[in-house]
Amino acid sequence: MKSNPTAADRRALLLVDLQNDFVAGGSLAVPGGNDVIEIANQLMTVFDLVVATQDWHPADHQSFASRHPHLSIGDNFTLGGLPQTAWPDHCVQGTHGSQLVAELHRDRISHVVRKGTDPSIDSYSGFFDNGHRHATGLADFLRSANVQHLFVMGLATDYCVRFTVLDAIQLGFQVTLIKDGCRGVEMKTGDIERAIDEMQSAGAELLSSDQLLH
Ligand SMILES: [Zn+2]
Repeated sequence: MKSNPTAADRRALLLVDLQNDFVAGGSLAVPGGNDVIEIANQLMTVFDLVVATQDWHPADHQSFASRHPHLSIGDNFTLGGLPQTAWPDHCVQGTHGSQLVAELHRDRISHVVRKGTDPSIDSYSGFFDNGHRHATGLADFLRSANVQHLFVMGLATDYCVRFTVLDAIQLGFQVTLIKDGCRGVEMKTGDIERAIDEMQSAGAELLSSDQLLH
């Protein structure tokens, strides 16, 4: 492969699911979710490529507890042969909840990848659905932009950030997790810490945003 010195170690900032339903007032609000928006806005000023993921479900998405009369929110069940948590309805395509948070400096985001569009399977990762059956196109986009090093932040640490980071590492990207730019659901005590440990063990480097801002 030809190497291009100017493109070596090209960095991109990946913002995971900074959407209304995941912040205060949203149907699946992540505690402290709003606190990361300003961090995202600051970090965007030091990256020349910013990519975002957007959870983008049809109204009949099977991850919604409302689709299963016998399930309550938070219950575990099997969807498409995979373990699944029953979520409140969230990020339904075209609704206010599905939109990126208004305070986010949207004009600095070059590319938005939508995920979770297949009603029969969930998609926590920005790269693949939870069964790794279909790719979203994010990896192709990053590769075509010569990105090798991804800096990841967003919501939620223990779900979509975690799955996105683990897939990115498996795909061969160098990954830095911006720890203070993430907030988690913490369905069970310790979920956030376990997720961070898992990402770090898999090869993610941990940084805080202020280490990138000067
Ligand atoms: Zn979702």
